[in-house]
Amino acid sequence: MIELKSPAEIERMAVTGQFVGELLAELSETAAVGVNLMDLEHHARRRIKERGAESCYWDYAPSFGRGPFRNVLCLSVNDAVLHGLPHDYVLRDGDLLSLDMAVGIDGWVADSAVSVIVGNPDPADQKLIEATEVALEAGIAAARPGGRLGDISAAIGAVGRRYGYGVNVEFGGHGLGRTMHEAPHVPNDGRARRGMKLEPGLTIAIEPWFCRSTDKIRFDADGWTIRSADGSRTAHSEHTVAITAGGPRILTGRPGRNAGHGDRTADSAATS
Ligand code: MG
Ligand code: MG
Repeated sequence: MIELKSPAEIERMAVTGQFVGELLAELSETAAVGVNLMDLEHHARRRIKERGAESCYWDYAPSFGRGPFRNVLCLSVNDAVLHGLPHDYVLRDGDLLSLDMAVGIDGWVADSAVSVIVGNPDPADQKLIEATEVALEAGIAAARPGGRLGDISAAIGAVGRRYGYGVNVEFGGHGLGRTMHEAPHVPNDGRARRGMKLEPGLTIAIEPWFCRSTDKIRFDADGWTIRSADGSRTAHSEHTVAITAGGPRILTGRPGRNAGHGDRTADSAATS
């Protein structure tokens, strides 16, 4: 069942979204050569606790993971793209790090992800991240009343292909609000003008991710970390978006240089 949110409920999700956006911006500024992934995880745990927020990841136990998740961040490095387990790893020059987090505040959830490069970037990695950000923008632009769910999927898939990447549809976006994963599923590719009608009050996480040279994935033995099947690098960008009568509203906007949506040009200019 799909639960449409009232404007007041969307405002409450926006409160959570603001915190998620701020913390992700903070974490991506902190990520640098020589920083241990566990420092990022512990920083996030502290900030979440101080804010009185609740991690949606802690104790999360879907069918594919082995044992409940015991972290508040997903940190996926290089060929890891989704559900990366924070572990004792010191970031190296040129690493591509994807940070993903979802928390609830007073019962309302927001979910967002950003990919960054630490140290000297490989231009091919910059292009990969850019593709996920442009795909996210395109997906958000299609999230308007009167449209269909397939419009969002088609917009994301088209950007991926335009950049020359394959598009995997096993993992994609999702509804969210009271919990992290609600209906509908929002695939990263599909057919325009198909699927459910988009109505004001629908709140979804839109999250394109691409691998440099494959659309296939493999899982680590722990069942969590998802990697590109061929070991090529990967990137992931995500925002929580509310469809309103006036169009899409991003609830997890980020301050600063990793704002992602709408800030891409400034961002690439700053890093190139
Ligand atoms: Mg996420
Ligand atoms: Mg998500």
